[in-house]
Amino acid sequence: MLCITLGTGIGSGQILDGRLYHGATGGAGQIGHLVLEPNGPLRRCGKRGCLETLASGTAIRRDTLAALGHGESSVLMGIDREQLTAEHVADAARDGDKLALGVFERAGRYIGAALACYADINNPELIVIGGGMAAAGDLLLGPIRQVFTERALPANARAARITTAALGSDAGAVGAAALVWIERARYPR
Ligand SMILES: [Zn+2]
Repeated sequence: MLCITLGTGIGSGQILDGRLYHGATGGAGQIGHLVLEPNGPLRRCGKRGCLETLASGTAIRRDTLAALGHGESSVLMGIDREQLTAEHVADAARDGDKLALGVFERAGRYIGAALACYADINNPELIVIGGGMAAAGDLLLGPIRQVFTERALPANARAARITTAALGSDAGAVGAAALVWIERARYPR
């Protein structure tokens, strides 16, 4: 399985054959910095157009501000631009705001494309979406599932169930604690 956390950034980790898979130096399964748009925006990781620059909460805020700046009409015009967050955009999208729906659709499509690349390498049975943006639910899951199904090999797309995280914002703490127990069992003193 792959777990991806969508917040101000995008993180992820994977369990392969029942075990957290670290890779050579702990960086395995990190899909947040896959480059999807080589000429896209430059961000703090130093790469252009990586998934995090295109689909994180930070990207949703930036894209929304840009669309508002172009004069697109939206209920978000009533919110102080300094205070605007991805949650405001999610709320507006849930209420059917066209600008907000477009921003979420675009982010979801990029996430779906990245997950399809991952699925064709590791053929997961489960992909869990967590982090603050997971609260957007079907606003994100809809476009994610659509592009995932279009882009992953059919057998790999069929094998993977995509769902939101059950543990919510506790997932990181529960996972870190579980890792200690697992490592202790593997390497008893
Ligand atoms: Zn990056």
